[in-house]
Amino acid sequence: MAVNCENYDENLKFCNCTYPGCPHKGNCCSCIRYHLKRKELPACCFPDGVEKTYDRTFDKFIEVYG
Ligand code: SF4
Repeated sequence: MAVNCENYDENLKFCNCTYPGCPHKGNCCSCIRYHLKRKELPACCFPDGVEKTYDRTFDKFIEVYG
């Protein structure tokens, strides 16, 4: 996936996603669209310890923050 976002480098500084090789990394618009379609949220919505489980569901978000 071509990334031409002007914020790409800055986005990567704040990205806590540990999923290897994801083409959406650093392209937050694409990342959030990808996850919302699946009723999920991006990695950055979760604490690091939860992020690394790759459970990005709304239910998990509510479990963590509800
Ligand atoms: S949160 Fe999901 S879409 Fe975004 S970079 Fe990580 S694995 Fe890719």
